[in-house]
Amino acid sequence: SEFVKEEFSRGMLRSKTVEDILTPLKDCFMLPSSVVLDFSTMSEIMQSGYTRVPIYEEERSNIVEILYVKDLALVDPDDCTPMTTITKFYNHPLHYVFNDTKLDAMLEEFKKGNSHMAIVQKVNNEGEGDPFYEVLGLVTLEDVIEEIIKSEILDE
Ligand code: ADP
Repeated sequence: SEFVKEEFSRGMLRSKTVEDILTPLKDCFMLPSSVVLDFSTMSEIMQSGYTRVPIYEEERSNIVEILYVKDLALVDPDDCTPMTTITKFYNHPLHYVFNDTKLDAMLEEFKKGNSHMAIVQKVNNEGEGDPFYEVLGLVTLEDVIEEIIKSEILDE
């Protein structure tokens, strides 16, 4: 019944975490903050097909900004505008969540906020040194919804 199906989804949302569903950092389409928005970079962004592109400094784990592809609407590739000119102008906020965030909590966060993407980090205290924040990847509202749909199909 619909009721059983809903309870099944709710249970899944309470038990699964963002770490279970994220897009790993190595698979993320991202660009360094040092690039210029010339024809080649703009084509690469368009061809990626993504709506949002994390921008990093030095290392991919150091995400500093996020570019929305729609921010490029008024950018002329002939101007070779530095990426940072655009990201600093729009200055979209970055949202971080911990790896153990449950999907129900994540869904509430996405519903509240105006951004539907979060950067997943964990506290890494393996090894000798001090604990540090390790970026694992990205999670979007789409990932959570996909998980709900999958669980409903499995239940049928
Ligand atoms: P988009 O609008 O760009 O298609 P969605 O929020 O619909 O993004 O997410 C679709 C899938 O793509 C999700 O699995 C999400 O984690 C992943 N995703 C979103 N942005 C990126 C990116 N820049 N690089 C790699 N994967 C991404």
